[in-house]
Amino acid sequence: MKIHEYQARDLLAQYGIPIAEGGVAQSPQEALSLAKKLGFPVVLKAQVLVGGRGKAGGVKVVADEADLVNQFNRIKNLTMGGYTVERLLVARAIDIRKEYYVALTVDNIKGDVVIIASGEGGVDIEETAKTNPEKILKFYMHGEKILDERRWALVAAQLFADTRLQMSATVMIGKLVKLFFEKDCTLAEINPFVVNGEGNLMAADVKVIIDDNGLFRQPELSQRRDLKYDDPDELEAKDKGLSFVKLEGNVGCIVNGAGLAMGTMDAVNLMGGTPANFLDVGGSSNPEKVLNALKIILRNPSIKVVLINIFGGITRCDDIASGILTALAQIKMTVPLVIRLTGTNEAVAKEMLNKAGLTTFSSMRQAVVEAVKLANK
Ligand code: GDP
Ligand code: MN
Repeated sequence: MKIHEYQARDLLAQYGIPIAEGGVAQSPQEALSLAKKLGFPVVLKAQVLVGGRGKAGGVKVVADEADLVNQFNRIKNLTMGGYTVERLLVARAIDIRKEYYVALTVDNIKGDVVIIASGEGGVDIEETAKTNPEKILKFYMHGEKILDERRWALVAAQLFADTRLQMSATVMIGKLVKLFFEKDCTLAEINPFVVNGEGNLMAADVKVIIDDNGLFRQPELSQRRDLKYDDPDELEAKDKGLSFVKLEGNVGCIVNGAGLAMGTMDAVNLMGGTPANFLDVGGSSNPEKVLNALKIILRNPSIKVVLINIFGGITRCDDIASGILTALAQIKMTVPLVIRLTGTNEAVAKEMLNKAGLTTFSSMRQAVVEAVKLANK
C-alpha cells in the first residue's frame, strides 16, 4: 500500500528524521494561510501516488502570495499518471545545497533487504542508475534486522567526506532502517536527502510503501489507504473474502487455494494461454463465494473463457457445484465455462453439473487445454 508524501512525512517526524515544516492544502486559501504561517519561500507539491512529480511540473518553489495562488491553481489542474491532484503539500522551501539518495527496499531476487544510497540524488536518479550504475551504492542487510550503527556508518562514510555529516547521516539512516522494519515497509525512500543552507541534513521528499501483508499489525497506517488508487474490483473481492489480482490475459480463473491458483496460472501459460486474473476462493465451501467470484471475473471485457479449478479437500465439490448453479441462475454467461473438479464429493458434484448440461473434467491438464483452446479461438 502506497501512502502519500504528507502521510509519510508524519512517519519521518515520528522517527526523528528532519523535514521542512508544512501542511496539506486543498484550496489556494488554505495554502495561503499555511504559507503565511511558514514564511516565504514555500514549496508546493502535488500529492499524488505517482513518481516523477518534479519533472511533470508538480513541484514548485514560490516566492510570494501571487505566485503561490497561480502555481497552486496550475498544479491542482494537472493530471499525473492519469490521476487528478486533490491536495498539495505546502512546506517551507529548503535551500538545497546538494541532493543525495537513501532508500531501503526488498531485493526479491536476493531475498534480502538492501540499503541503496547515492551521492547523486534528485529527479535523475533512474537515469543515473542506467548510465552510471557504479554511482548507486548497495548495502545488503544479510537477513538481519539488527540496528547496528557501525553498519550505517559504512554507508554514510561512502556518501559524505565531512565527518559531521557522516555522523549525522549515520544516525538518520539508522532511524530510516528502524522505520522500515517497524512499519512493515517494502520501500522507505528519501530522495532527495539534502544538505541545506545551514549545512544540515534533511529529507526533502519521502516515499513509503507498506507491505499489504503487514497491514494487520499497522492499523493506523491501513486507515490511510487512498482508495482512489486501488482497483475497485480488487477492493470488492477483498471485502467478500476472495484473494483476487487482475492480470492482462483472457482466461478467467476461479481456484481454491493460493498454491493451486498459482499452479493454474502457470499451467494456462504453459499451454499457450494467458490468465486474466489470480483468484483464490479460499478453503471454505461457501457457494456464495463462487457466485461473487464469477460476477467479478465476468466484468472484465477481455475475458474469453472462465476456468474453474477445484481440488476438493476441505472444500466440498458439491458446494462448489451448487455455487456454480446458483450463479448461472442469476447471471447470464457471456463466455464458455470450463470446470475441473476432483476430490471430496466429486461424484455428486459432477452429477449436479452434468444434469444442468455442463461438462466437467477431472484432469487439470485436460481442463486447462480446453480453456486455452476456447480462449485462443
Ligand atoms: P518527485 O519528483 O516526485 O520525486 O518530487 P520531489 O519532492 O523529490 O521534488 C523534485 C525536485 O524538486 C527535488 O529533487 C528538488 O530538486 C526540488 N525540490 C523539492 N523540494 C524542494 C525545496 O524545498 N526547495 C528546493 N529548492 N527545491 C526543492
Ligand atoms: Mn523525489
